[in-house]
Amino acid sequence: MEKNGVSKSVLIADNVEKSGTADIKTLLRIFDDHEKISLIGAINLFDQTKNKLTEVEKLILEKKIIGLKLYNGHDKIYPTDKRCFSTYELCNKHSIPVMMHTGANSGDSEAAKYNDPKMIVEIANKFPRLKIVISHYFWPRLEYCYETTRNIPNIFFDTSALADQEVIDESGGIEKVKNILEKTIRDQNNNVLFGTDYSMCKTKDHINLINSLEITDDLKDRIFSKNFLDLY
Ligand SMILES: [Zn+2]
Repeated sequence: MEKNGVSKSVLIADNVEKSGTADIKTLLRIFDDHEKISLIGAINLFDQTKNKLTEVEKLILEKKIIGLKLYNGHDKIYPTDKRCFSTYELCNKHSIPVMMHTGANSGDSEAAKYNDPKMIVEIANKFPRLKIVISHYFWPRLEYCYETTRNIPNIFFDTSALADQEVIDESGGIEKVKNILEKTIRDQNNNVLFGTDYSMCKTKDHINLINSLEITDDLKDRIFSKNFLDLY
């Protein structure tokens, strides 16, 4: 963070223990009450006992986490599956956003069928007060994601992974990525949030991506911080 001039960060938990990243317990152990770090929790859609959900709700009430993420595609469950609804309802109840992992996974393009934006749109319409953040812009099908989710007020996007070389190459090149972000920002300039992606991508590359967009400095500020602060 210091190296890249980042003053505050949000860390997103993985929804399984002992993965390549960290689950919420690990993050809480390291970063609880850290003034520069906020946390987003995660739901394992295959493991939702009443106890687990109560634990998560407690973290929300104590403001230890400021949102939740679902990993449809890691969990092979569709966003429209009833098993996701406890998360939507929990987020709705506490007015916190739900973040959705989308797109292909490296080495597993089949994963994308479990997080198709058309299903996310269904949920956005069904829960009009729920704020949904689409992560990774359903790469490599950026244009499809843009057209499908266009101008839906409660759908947001983070830029995580969009500066990763594999994502750029598979998605039609850097000009395509920039074009999609510029179009999205033109439609709804409150709805794009800066994001990076653990281990795959350098923070600096993501910062450079935003700075390379043909938009005003005021809009860049929005994407780097204001939009996030407003939403969360
Ligand atoms: Zn993700």
